[in-house]
Amino acid sequence: MCGIVGYIGPREAYPIIIEGLKRLEYRGYDSAGIALFDGSELKVCKTKGKVVDLEAKLYKEISSNGSIGIGHTRWATHGVPNDVNSHPHYSNSGNLVIIHNGIIENYDALRKELIKRGYVFKSDTDTEVLVNLIEEVKKQEDVKLGKAVQIALNQVVGAYAIAVFDKTQPNEIVIARLGSPLAIGVGKDEFFIASDASPFLEYTKNAIYLEDEEMAIIRLNKDIKIRKIKDDSLVDPYVQALKMNLDQIEKGGFEHFMLKEIYEQPRAITDTYRGRLNREEAIIKMSSVEDNMKKFLAADRIIIVACGTSWHAGLVAEYIFEDLARIPVEVEYASEFRYRNPIITEKDVVIAISQSGETADTLAAIKLAKSKGAFVFGVCNVVGSSIARETHAGAYTHAGPEIGVASTKAFTTQITVLSLIALRLARAKGTISSSDFRQHLLEFEMIPKKVEKALEADEHIKKIANIYKDVHNFLYLGRGYNFPVALEGALKLKEISYIHAEGYPAAEMKHGPIALIDENMPIVVIATKKGHYEKVVSNIQEIKSRKGKIIGIVTEGDVDVRALADHVIEVPETLEFLSPLLTTIPLQLLSYHIAVLLGKNVDQPRNLAKSVTVE
Ligand code: GLU
Repeated sequence: MCGIVGYIGPREAYPIIIEGLKRLEYRGYDSAGIALFDGSELKVCKTKGKVVDLEAKLYKEISSNGSIGIGHTRWATHGVPNDVNSHPHYSNSGNLVIIHNGIIENYDALRKELIKRGYVFKSDTDTEVLVNLIEEVKKQEDVKLGKAVQIALNQVVGAYAIAVFDKTQPNEIVIARLGSPLAIGVGKDEFFIASDASPFLEYTKNAIYLEDEEMAIIRLNKDIKIRKIKDDSLVDPYVQALKMNLDQIEKGGFEHFMLKEIYEQPRAITDTYRGRLNREEAIIKMSSVEDNMKKFLAADRIIIVACGTSWHAGLVAEYIFEDLARIPVEVEYASEFRYRNPIITEKDVVIAISQSGETADTLAAIKLAKSKGAFVFGVCNVVGSSIARETHAGAYTHAGPEIGVASTKAFTTQITVLSLIALRLARAKGTISSSDFRQHLLEFEMIPKKVEKALEADEHIKKIANIYKDVHNFLYLGRGYNFPVALEGALKLKEISYIHAEGYPAAEMKHGPIALIDENMPIVVIATKKGHYEKVVSNIQEIKSRKGKIIGIVTEGDVDVRALADHVIEVPETLEFLSPLLTTIPLQLLSYHIAVLLGKNVDQPRNLAKSVTVE
């Protein structure tokens, strides 16, 4: 996830690109860069940091200007955020520059091939590989930039939105997309390029949205040519007249960032396992796990430390690691762990989870575990964050920036990463058969589609939210893998609607919370097939006898719970260890709609901060 801006036309490109990048900073913010062509010279300026840091650097480095340019705010996936890894990237000849949003999965093989042919690489990025591949194709095939981009993209596996400029053909910019958004603003004798329309809205409201697997050659004073990357067929450009305002566009047309992020989960989960899960070869490849396999396999136990939603992801992981990989797991609140003189040895593996990678208590727990000789592995979302730097090794979630304070896609992508690790270890330990392993990978790949299906219940959930929005208490129940999901559902509701909610293991209800149940108490029960279904149905009977209102989260086609519950919300069927990725979706939507109906500030709930950098 990153921001892309480009301009070609009669105006000065620089202010358009800089202002555009500022508007796209919500998409990525660890580095920024720009390439400008002034008619004779192509200049690149880039830096780690924010767009304001780029402005300061530009002021010193680039005096000449130009009316063609491309700019980027990065959200690093390959290589730490630093000046060299920032975009744009030059090709070896210095003729081509590229900006890229996404991940080139087969970059390593391509890079090795290009090195054999004499190419040298300055950065650690997948992007620099792509620009040199385009250059190599251009040379080998003796073709123009557009054709070279097309041929190169047909050799690439992964996701991208790119803009490429070639100073030997200075009247055009070539763009392409697969899996990352890209819009063209169509002005009078000028064109704008951007990840969303916000950078060009003040200049033109006419936009073409490129579809996946399409590329466009944007030439000065010429018509735009759009082609299918695969079969070269021409596509008629469809120019839309935009009616949205700036704020709506940044939120992708959603009312709140939280809702946008809930809806981003199919893509975010795909980005998380992309390049790591290979179903055809039946392997999971995570270099940080492979490199430390001995430590993982020799571990007496895994201790997971985290706070808040990440702690819930840790609890889900406890079930997954113990079930699949048969490794004992303890899950600790980082804030308790760090102060209670815990027993940690060199034979422990500690996994620290944090979206921001800056959570103060988790950082302190990491330092403590390191001081006792444990191997510490980080799972975080923000690239280059303190936790990413402080741990011995780690894996990013690749969820893209999460702006809503209540975590949604961070939770599901954390579970995704942890499941991949558990599966990899299970394979290495032989605790899973190869046929089950294949079956698990196959089902894993179907999760994004199933999340999309779960999201279809949105309107139905909104109606349920409307019925219960004025209650003061909620109970959430689940068993096994879905007990932590119940905790997470309750936390979401508390965070954004300020309604008191508690999550419990369904069977624990009898040991206390059952006293709370009366006709005014809504109880969300996760009752999907497989997860001790019959037992949960019995728990639902017990609630029913006490007149509690039941909202059942059930597997598609369920009959038994439907007969008992006041409302049911269906999710697709899946393997038990993957079910939290689906059952959590309706709970996110339920809390979201209740909060909106109550008029609460969903993206910035009172008293809460996105990243808790104090104890
Ligand atoms: N994979 C590229 C990188 O790490 C692009 C990341 C982005 O989308 O900002 O530089």
